[in-house]
Amino acid sequence: MLSTPLHAVQWGPVEVAGRQISPGETLRFPYGGESSFEASFLDAPVFVARGVREGPSLCITAGIHGDEINGTEIARRSFSWIDPTALNGTVIVFPMVNAAGVRSGNRYMQDRRDLNREFPGRSNGSVSSIVAHTLFTEIRRNCRYLVDLHTGSFSRSNHPQIRVTSKDEVAFDLARHFGVGIVVLGEGPSGSIRREAGDIGIPAIIYEAGEPSRFDLDLIASGVQGIESVMAHLGMVQGGKEIEVPESRIYTKTTWVRVPVGAGGYFFPTVELGQAVSEGDRLGTIIDPLTDRYTAVAATESGEVIGLAFAQIVLSGYALVHLGVQHR
Ligand SMILES: [Zn+2]
Repeated sequence: MLSTPLHAVQWGPVEVAGRQISPGETLRFPYGGESSFEASFLDAPVFVARGVREGPSLCITAGIHGDEINGTEIARRSFSWIDPTALNGTVIVFPMVNAAGVRSGNRYMQDRRDLNREFPGRSNGSVSSIVAHTLFTEIRRNCRYLVDLHTGSFSRSNHPQIRVTSKDEVAFDLARHFGVGIVVLGEGPSGSIRREAGDIGIPAIIYEAGEPSRFDLDLIASGVQGIESVMAHLGMVQGGKEIEVPESRIYTKTTWVRVPVGAGGYFFPTVELGQAVSEGDRLGTIIDPLTDRYTAVAATESGEVIGLAFAQIVLSGYALVHLGVQHR
């Protein structure tokens, strides 16, 4: 008689937010909420796929900023193609972390806080802190790796890029395997889910692509492919081969070009995302609508345009163009 391999005995159901999901099962359900008016702010969805075989657990978070809807669609698609009978490990997707923000098109939480500065959160803190705590408790318990999905903020768009700490080789490996061509190194702000997860030993990356409040199908497809590639790299797809990923430019330094003091007005960019520029090149023009004065916005350093404000009305100090300036 064949003996049962040890890992097959140990590989049982996973418990996520109080629900058991057995090997070979997928489940979508709300977590964190109670059936009361008071608690309805916590009612966010989670999708779980428990593979039939042992493997790592990959968590995907989206909609921490409620208006960054590219991520919510990447999360949905990434889950919908998973076949748990061909999966090694577990995929846990939190597609709309700031569920109220997603529903109302709002970056922030109901208490006007930025949820991505509230992690790990507190069970007796503000609304945002409670939501952060509820999610982070599950992340801490169930996630071996984390991919967080974002877009540019307000009226800006990001060229597809991965952000990752320079201090964790495993996280950096995930970033390269995501394969979107640009990796930006940095620790991320204190209180962000990526940084706080990294600090408790969960390698975490961010995929940033596009603009808020608008679906971009190409960038969504890149994100889904990136997650597929990361899963192949982690050995989570049975019979799957590693996907060939292009070399990335690894930026060790980026800089923002801002509206000069006293030069606010109507901004018209003259560059595009992904464009290479030299120091002194014109990036755009700002017109003072009252005096007709034109101000050229020039590149402060040579680099690549990785983030860009749309044509819009801007005030002094507004961040217009994000340049990747040093790579290795
Ligand atoms: Zn964001």
